Amino acid sequence: MDTLYLVIPCYNEEEVLPETSSQLKKKIVSLVAKGKISAQSRIVFVNDGSKDKTWEIISKLHEEDKIFQGIKLSRNKGHQNALLCGLMTVKDHCDMTISLDADLQDDINAIDEMVDKYYEGCDVVYGVRSARDTDTFFKKFTAEGFYKVMKMMGADVVFNHADYRLMSRRALDGLQNFKEVNLFLRGVVPMIGYKSDSVYYERKERFAGESKYPLKKMLAFAWEGITSLSTKPIKMISMLGGLIFIVSIIMLIYSVVRHFMGATEIGWTSTIVSIWAIGGLQLLAIGIIGEYIGKVYLETKERPKFIVEKYLSDDE
Ligand code: UDP
Ligand code: MG
Repeated sequence: MDTLYLVIPCYNEEEVLPETSSQLKKKIVSLVAKGKISAQSRIVFVNDGSKDKTWEIISKLHEEDKIFQGIKLSRNKGHQNALLCGLMTVKDHCDMTISLDADLQDDINAIDEMVDKYYEGCDVVYGVRSARDTDTFFKKFTAEGFYKVMKMMGADVVFNHADYRLMSRRALDGLQNFKEVNLFLRGVVPMIGYKSDSVYYERKERFAGESKYPLKKMLAFAWEGITSLSTKPIKMISMLGGLIFIVSIIMLIYSVVRHFMGATEIGWTSTIVSIWAIGGLQLLAIGIIGEYIGKVYLETKERPKFIVEKYLSDDE
């Protein structure tokens, strides 16, 4: 029997943790009873620099029951980094991990099926939302738009899959080789390879607390994803440049023809318009190229993705 570790990033989740921890514990206990996972399986909370009582709750859970473990980041590093930190910290203690959100919006009953698929030989099992009925129109629209825009911009992500997924130890070892600082998990995991599959579930409402992903963070996240996965924006600029070049050649031929026809009046308007058009295009192009140069700059710095302050593990 293989060992399963659940990894849950938590940022200001004091309202949901008591309920989440008891539900997850029930799930693990039932899976152990069914003989699907070993009794060494654990639930690991990663405290992402919360400002509330989250860490106190995690510490207490660990004290009372060693099925719970806690990792405390030195400060808030964002969902993706907290998750990555959790996965990399537990990697060598288990055979498979499942990452999920603290609010249990992602149906934990899908865990059974994920584990089944793991035994069928999958190294990565994606949790995919089959329905978003409980999301508000706005959340649904922006979230689905997110996946569509990502795809359009050349960042290949699994549609309607967030970070609810099972990963085997082998897959995590692969993930570790992606040394980039701007790590966009959803885009990088499919690049690892290995056999993968999806399980479908209905996304529920957050039962307490509020979303830590406001629109501003979501837009930043999408931009992060596009610029760290794809060079399509640059290609689009080059294509636009090419198009404008062709148009300018046609314009040149047109004006030469007009010249020999005797209509030599040169329009001030067209001059001004072209200055603006070229100027604007150049600025846009420089801006986008600058984005990538910014990334290169960050990569060369090799900043740590996370710093662990404490690791409440079994042998303490
Ligand atoms: N989260 C985190 N660090 C952050 C923001 C969020 O660890 O800076 C965690 C949060 O505690 C939750 C998960 O990421 O477990 C997803 O956040 P949330 O449920 O607020 O996002 P939504 O479901 O609204 O997209
Ligand atoms: Mg949520």
